[in-house]
Amino acid sequence: MKFTELDLKPEIQQALDRMGYIELTPVQEQTFAAILADRDLLALAETGSGKTGACGIPLVQKIEPTLRATQALILVPTRELALQYVDEIDLIAQYLNISPFAIYGGFSMDIQKAKLADGVHFLVATPGRLIDHLYNGDFSLSKVKTLVLDEADEMLNLGFIDDVRFIMSCIIARHQTLLFSATMPRDIDVLAASCLHDPLKVELNLEVIAPPNISHFFQITAPHKRLAALKEHLQGDALQQAIIFCNSRRNGEELYRKLQNAFTSLAYIHGGLDQTRRTAIFDNFKKRKTKILIATDVAGRGLDFSHVSHIINFDFPQNAEIYTHRTGRTGRMGRAGIAITYVANRNLEALKRLLQQNHIDPVWEGTVPDLDRLPRPDRKRAGRWAGHGRRGSGRAKMPLKKQAREKFR
Ligand code: AMP
Repeated sequence: MKFTELDLKPEIQQALDRMGYIELTPVQEQTFAAILADRDLLALAETGSGKTGACGIPLVQKIEPTLRATQALILVPTRELALQYVDEIDLIAQYLNISPFAIYGGFSMDIQKAKLADGVHFLVATPGRLIDHLYNGDFSLSKVKTLVLDEADEMLNLGFIDDVRFIMSCIIARHQTLLFSATMPRDIDVLAASCLHDPLKVELNLEVIAPPNISHFFQITAPHKRLAALKEHLQGDALQQAIIFCNSRRNGEELYRKLQNAFTSLAYIHGGLDQTRRTAIFDNFKKRKTKILIATDVAGRGLDFSHVSHIINFDFPQNAEIYTHRTGRTGRMGRAGIAITYVANRNLEALKRLLQQNHIDPVWEGTVPDLDRLPRPDRKRAGRWAGHGRRGSGRAKMPLKKQAREKFR
């Protein structure tokens, strides 16, 4: 479906034309009418599916520009996601007098307070900082008509769920709630049951979790040979931009030190950096001034870097969900992407579980392990919706794999 069929305000249509948005993505197509009609929504959708626009476009359509109060409140787990959201809404609303604003920790409360006092139509916030403003200021949520909980599972992982519940209790007026989550752990299910009324349920990350345009390479590599393998991959011609994931801040630091001399276009993003530094790293990578980014999971989660060609799991991901989030940074909007994971022998059981749970059709570099000789994985570990309906196993078709293999180096 095309945006021109939606009867949007001409200013929004003009902005979408300029942004190059012609067709709706599946999540946008399935949710647009419901969001516009004030219906609650429960969407299993990942970054990369166009979920920011799915919310942003109908909400910009609904906002009353003359009422300078927060009409849409969007809760996100991280500062980067807050900024990304605001950027997208800024673009959608560029020809309208609508102001989005992001508040997050690590930035002056006073500046944020002044901006809030001025009135912002869209407020994108991390939960902790919003609570600070609710406690220590005159800021009110009385005009909120739509509450969006974005990446609800990540807010849960980061321990924000009580904060989210508290914020919800502060919105007394009748409002619409839109909940987006990449996975549906029990606590999110419980939250959804308590805060959503007759929601439209959309389950879309089936497409995104194992998108056919990502080739999943695995390489059995002894720990002491991993660095050499990585360096080789980073020198490959096909590599446009890469994110290298590490499991801890310490591992990331160590890797950064080891790569610094050999690769100049390199940065390292982790949760311990101050906000100015994080934003600078983030912007440079987004503008493709940096080619290689080392990241920890928290820092890398949800970030939309649409030109990343390679995701490299230097450290084997701690679970299948993390693998999904990491590799979701490539293969955006139909582009081809490559995920490379180094596997030590001790990771083999976890690898077997990962391949089954995510229906991954692996492409092996070097030795092919005999996974059938390992014990059967524990199926109970799959998330509630995790294994359901993902027809991914046969999806990475041979021509694509061959093509990817050729492009691999
Ligand atoms: P998101 O899932 O919101 O992070 O979006 C992923 C990427 O898709 C972003 O780079 C968006 O700018 C882009 N995008 C979202 N919706 C559309 C659309 N309808 N057409 C083209 N690109 C889009």
